[in-house]
Amino acid sequence: MFQFARIKLTLWYLLIIMTISMAFSAIIFDFTTREVHRFASAQRHRIQELLELDEFFFSNRPRKMPLIIEIDDEELITEVQKRTLISLGIVNGIIFVLAGGLSYFLAGKTLQPIQEMVDEQNRFISDASHELKTPLTSLKTAFEVFLRDKNPQLTDSKELIQESLIDVNKLQYLSEALLTLAQFQQPSEKHTFSRLNLNINITSTIKKIGPLAKTKRIAIKINLNDLYVTADQYKLSEVWIILLDNAIKYSPEKSTIIITAKKSGNCAEIRVSDQGIGISQKDLPHIFDRFYRADSARSHQKGNGFGLGLAIAKKIVEQHRGTITVTSNEEKGSTFIVKLPLLKK
Ligand code: ADP
Repeated sequence: MFQFARIKLTLWYLLIIMTISMAFSAIIFDFTTREVHRFASAQRHRIQELLELDEFFFSNRPRKMPLIIEIDDEELITEVQKRTLISLGIVNGIIFVLAGGLSYFLAGKTLQPIQEMVDEQNRFISDASHELKTPLTSLKTAFEVFLRDKNPQLTDSKELIQESLIDVNKLQYLSEALLTLAQFQQPSEKHTFSRLNLNINITSTIKKIGPLAKTKRIAIKINLNDLYVTADQYKLSEVWIILLDNAIKYSPEKSTIIITAKKSGNCAEIRVSDQGIGISQKDLPHIFDRFYRADSARSHQKGNGFGLGLAIAKKIVEQHRGTITVTSNEEKGSTFIVKLPLLKK
């Protein structure tokens, strides 16, 4: 499809360039013809004057040699026109070949971002459908098995509903996460950025996630300086939720998570450190990719998460003109570092 579009665009570029080139050629041809006419007529006048002078000075003397000058203007003009046409033809031929190559190259460059966007969207759709398929198939199978039972018991029904709810929750989380990611693709998305105290934003987020940490008896320690940034408080809060949720998910019971926020140059540097399973060197470069789940995490936390959290966190941080990076030691823990442009108090 893109090859066809590229060729079509190349032909359009070529048509435009050749139209301009031909128009200039026509102007050059017309100009040259006029100039030759003008030159021939001026030449004729000059010779005429010379002949008249000759007549005047030598009219009383016999001429040694008769002066016969014959000028064929038409032949000269036709010859010049022929040569001009040949030269312009050669130049246009060269322009055609060069412009053809250049147009093909430019058409490729023009279409490249569109192709990348379409590829990205196709990948997104195929990844999303793949992820949606698993819980949906499991729901469908459970319902079908249940329906085959001629005398279902109330306890069985309750059990089925409870199990189904787990899948429904997963589907709900997945659809919400996909929607959030899809919103980042829209350039028209509105931001409601305002001056924000990071300390307050992080502390209030910790309050929300506290109960989850308690289920694993994980302690969350904070060391936050009073720093101000321009941000969308809800979106930024989402980043801390994703990082803390992961830290809790991938940490053993009774471990500690530390959050620090300090000034680093012109940035606010926020670190979320855990004492969890860590991330292998092989997985580190990919963990911010959409739908990427590290092997170790998959085996420990089977069926938990879709690999979308960090992709969303990265998009949000980038929207705030910040960066997010990670350092990790397997079996020792990970530290996620978020840097955001600092606002003066
Ligand atoms: P998921 O929903 O699977 O956690 P994320 O995008 O949040 O998706 O994370 C992607 C992967 O990065 C996870 O599957 C996990 O392998 C790894 N990861 C993220 N945070 C941590 C962490 N704090 N400790 C260990 N591994 C982590």
